[in-house]
Amino acid sequence: FIMSDTDTRDPTSLRTPIVAVLGHVDHGKTSLLDKIRGSAVIEGEAGAITQHIGATAVPLDVVSSIAGELVNPDDFDLPGLLFIDTPGHHSFTTLRSRGGALADIAILVVDVNDGFQPQTLEALDILKRSQTPFIVAANKIDTVPGWNPNEDTPITATYESQSDRVTGRLDESLYQIIGNLSDEGFSADLYWRVQNFQRNVGVVPVSAMTGEGVPDLLAVMMGLSQRYMKEEMEIDVAGPGVGTVLEVKDEKGFGTTVDMVLYDGTIKADDQIVVGGQNDPLVTDVRALLQPRPLAEIRTESRFEKVDEVGAAAGIKVAAPDLDDAMAGAPVRVVRNRALEEVVTEVEAELADIAVDTAEQG
Ligand code: GDP
Repeated sequence: FIMSDTDTRDPTSLRTPIVAVLGHVDHGKTSLLDKIRGSAVIEGEAGAITQHIGATAVPLDVVSSIAGELVNPDDFDLPGLLFIDTPGHHSFTTLRSRGGALADIAILVVDVNDGFQPQTLEALDILKRSQTPFIVAANKIDTVPGWNPNEDTPITATYESQSDRVTGRLDESLYQIIGNLSDEGFSADLYWRVQNFQRNVGVVPVSAMTGEGVPDLLAVMMGLSQRYMKEEMEIDVAGPGVGTVLEVKDEKGFGTTVDMVLYDGTIKADDQIVVGGQNDPLVTDVRALLQPRPLAEIRTESRFEKVDEVGAAAGIKVAAPDLDDAMAGAPVRVVRNRALEEVVTEVEAELADIAVDTAEQG
């Protein structure tokens, strides 16, 4: 990332890690995201915006209230976690940043009963190639026969209230998953036994249905990010924004818009931007930055509300002229005080990288 004038550079600050959810179909990716979103809404302070465009931000204080004693907010200086709302490989592989994965960290969801399936292996392969740190959510623990559910509790608490027969069955499934991970070259263990999350993959038993283990899942994600990703999260918050297009959408009253995830700097409502297109970079001026309006206000107004500026990491809808040829997965760069040609050249180079990767994968 080249700053045109390093002297006016603002002090760096830490952004939210971007989290993607992967796994085999029906193993519970959507349910898990819904559960986390639901818990975040319940625990969120009044006025705390958690729903972004295409992503859900769970601020540290909300992570901490969901995770209870597993997360002491004083131990962290990362601001929380940003979950990409569209789970699955396709979004993971098309969403990239500067040649790497857009997601900083991933959750691989595996159904405890169904175990490893073709898309689980595909997901592992993608995570391996992109070198994305991940944890495994061993989901649907509530379906183990005889399970006694304890809504939203940490795994240790609910474990203790199960009969030996039930925990025996769960352990068997969990060790099967750990064995499968090992067959794929990942040294893994139940998360509470993992000392070094850089070397070992942590397995977190959860239920997206009852919320059991969700406190642990958030605590592990937060801990892993804080411990191993802090340096990567250092950004120049006030600098020109950089992001990735999630989706190109026609929006009534706004024409063609792009939904994007901003992973560096800021974007402002009057910025000039360069967006990766089907053929060439598109140069345009932001007309409006839109985020979802809180549910209560939707009846009378548009679904969106305009904001003046957004800082990374965030999901935001950008309305601007000439976005028809914008492309999902392509880069977005704010020009601001930089030379336009320089920014266009960067976007061209990034588009060329995407083309090469797509050809390789095809
Ligand atoms: P996805 O395809 O990976 O996004 O899976 P979904 O989230 O759509 O879940 C597939 C099915 O499994 C749905 O019927 C969910 O209700 C169910 N499901 C997901 N998580 C759980 C869980 O933890 N416990 C139980 N009992 N069912 C679950």
